[in-house]
Amino acid sequence: MDESMHIFVLTGAGISAESGIPVFQGTSWRGRPHAELANIHAWNADPELVWEYYSERRRRAREVQPNAAHFALANFAESLSANRFFLCTQNVDGLHEAAGSKNVFHVHGCLFETRCADECGQLAFADTKEYAAGSLPRCVCGALQRPNVCWFGEQPYELDRVQRELDQCSVFLAVGTSGSVQPVASFVAMLKQRRGPTRTMFVGLERPANASYFDDIHLGKASAVLAEVLRRL
Ligand code: NAD
Repeated sequence: MDESMHIFVLTGAGISAESGIPVFQGTSWRGRPHAELANIHAWNADPELVWEYYSERRRRAREVQPNAAHFALANFAESLSANRFFLCTQNVDGLHEAAGSKNVFHVHGCLFETRCADECGQLAFADTKEYAAGSLPRCVCGALQRPNVCWFGEQPYELDRVQRELDQCSVFLAVGTSGSVQPVASFVAMLKQRRGPTRTMFVGLERPANASYFDDIHLGKASAVLAEVLRRL
């Protein structure tokens, strides 16, 4: 990387898999696909079930530690000035921060935050609690509160900020993501369709659904492969 380069890193569930947090693809919760529970329709139909699911995810995420891939990204960012590195994660688990990464952008929200389900204007707040049926949290406005995460069927957070960062990046590196969850999976395609060269790189266990948009694909566990890819940059 020369002085003018700007790197956009996109991480997905695969980077946390070796810490012990299951990815969505190919796993389920009580026999149901995650996409069915991390879903606005599930919330509308059965908020108690959705809170039970997220309470268990909170419990799991509290018990795990960041792995070598999270630390590799935190160390890499330390070696660059802040305006040359943007870390955008689809993960809600907080493991990038636990590894020391600063200014992490959570495009799908944060597991350990809660907010009003009616968006009454009250701010989201830090919350590690688990909620059982019959004791769901309520906002001062009277509406139910929900996990501050983006569900299937909803728009990710602050896509205008993401767009500004994509506009100025010269290297795009995706790590541990299946390339199948939209609209995030389309970031790399947007870069390839615009004017100006952007190097696009991928690190993950298997080829992603959007593989054709990547210049370099490095297959393997993020903990084993990522540090070397960053070193070469
Ligand atoms: P995904 O489940 O669709 O895909 C995960 C990808 O990671 C797969 O392609 C898998 O092959 C790969 N992978 C598994 N182990 C890996 C490893 N050790 N190293 C590198 N790659 C590995 O995940 P997604 O693309 O992030 O999209 C799913 C959605 O669910 C996202 O919104 C994501 O944030 C959310 N999610 C988050 C968490 C979390 O916060 N940790 C966990 C599960 C799902």
